[in-house]
Amino acid sequence: MGSRTVVVGASVGGIKTVQALRSQGYAGELIVVDAESHLPYDKPPLSKGYLNESLGRDRVNLISEAEINSLVIDLKLGVGAKKIDVAGNEITLEDGGRIGYDNLIVATGARARLSPWEAKDGVHLLRTLDDSERLRKDFHGARSVIVVGGGFIGAEVAAAARHHGLEVTIVDPLEVPMGRVLGDPVGRLFIKLHHLNGVATHFGNGVEAITGSKGDLTVELTDGRLLYGDLVVVGIGAVPNTEWLASSGLLIDNGLVCDEYCRADGQANIFGVGDVARWFHPKRKELVRVEHWTNAVEQAACVAHNIVNPSNIVSYAPIAYVWSDQYDWKIQIAGETARVADFVVVEDPSNENRFAAVYVDHSGNFCGVVTVNWPRAMIQCRRLLENETDISRPLNLLNDLLPGKAK
Ligand SMILES: Cc1cc2nc3c(=O)[nH]c(=O)nc-3n(C[C@H](O)[C@H](O)[C@H](O)COP(=O)(O)OP(=O)(O)OC[C@H]3O[C@@H](n4cnc5c(N)ncnc54)[C@H](O)[C@@H]3O)c2cc1C
Repeated sequence: MGSRTVVVGASVGGIKTVQALRSQGYAGELIVVDAESHLPYDKPPLSKGYLNESLGRDRVNLISEAEINSLVIDLKLGVGAKKIDVAGNEITLEDGGRIGYDNLIVATGARARLSPWEAKDGVHLLRTLDDSERLRKDFHGARSVIVVGGGFIGAEVAAAARHHGLEVTIVDPLEVPMGRVLGDPVGRLFIKLHHLNGVATHFGNGVEAITGSKGDLTVELTDGRLLYGDLVVVGIGAVPNTEWLASSGLLIDNGLVCDEYCRADGQANIFGVGDVARWFHPKRKELVRVEHWTNAVEQAACVAHNIVNPSNIVSYAPIAYVWSDQYDWKIQIAGETARVADFVVVEDPSNENRFAAVYVDHSGNFCGVVTVNWPRAMIQCRRLLENETDISRPLNLLNDLLPGKAK
């Protein structure tokens, strides 16, 4: 009898897993289930090109119908998975349907954290294609937007709203929101970027209340100040979609807890992929959950390998990578840039919108890098992160890439 792999979640984690399974020679049956009805789509453009309307719907697709057919994937859309019977190797769908499996991939990702404030009309979240469509529609009738949350999503929404010509204000309880990821001195450069693009910021100031409705919203800050806007976008993080696993007996703790091979704790045939998976990172020696696109892709490849090669499984120890597009900055971040000992900024004197910051850990090793509008520097520094090295190597490399020195 042939084997059957069932994937729950048809976003990047789920779709890349089935593509990797086929490319690695998996010949069994593949069934993919998703609660949403849209053909699988990608999320990064939803806060960038799709939101500012420079990209059409066709550029957001993750996989074409032709590829779904050629890979022989049974895609069941518009019906969520409700629970797993781990002992019986079977999932139950919301519509009562049951599907047995030999291998199960949990790729149910995360959802936007809900706005805890009173107002709902004109207050947006951004996670799905429908969210992005609703928001860009509302951008057309609005003059101003207040963005709550100065992280990646908030900053990208601010940039897209400026592209639409709106007046934009960002609020965040942290003094330096991107400092969370990049350290405060580098994070401050991103605040300057907002200001240069005409965005007002209220950082170091939380939100006490949001009242009113679309076209007439009031955001009250913790210091008592009142801000007025036609729209509000709340970008305050994401929550893993694990509720449907509650009765399974699987270990859930801020995600589906997995071992270093991405197998659900104690299970040989249930795997976690993408934003929902909190796996044991063998190099960091801790459980980590990563909400980045590249992580979902790389983890999918690892899981596919481990299904196709059960006697030669490999652990998953990626070097983190994420990008963000904000105004005219293409930002790329690799490795560890938060829990570091020090960093050095290398600027390109010929281009004030191009720089890199190189981070060093507490053992004196090069551990992370951020580049702005400098993809070549990112590619080369990212390679260096694969092996232990001191900071002189990336610094020499960056200096060699500066104008007049490039080979
Ligand atoms: C607006 C936006 C912009 C982003 N930009 C970037 C970026 O620039 N760079 C970057 O690195 N990362 C970015 N990310 C993050 C990246 O998109 C995510 O890391 C990635 O989408 C995770 O993929 P995933 O498949 O794990 O989960 P998700 O994309 O969250 O997908 C999970 C899927 O599971 C389905 N599902 C959930 N529960 C069930 C259920 N019970 N039954 C059936 N189906 C279910 C959902 O409908 C969904 O389709 C962005 C994310 C967003 C939202």
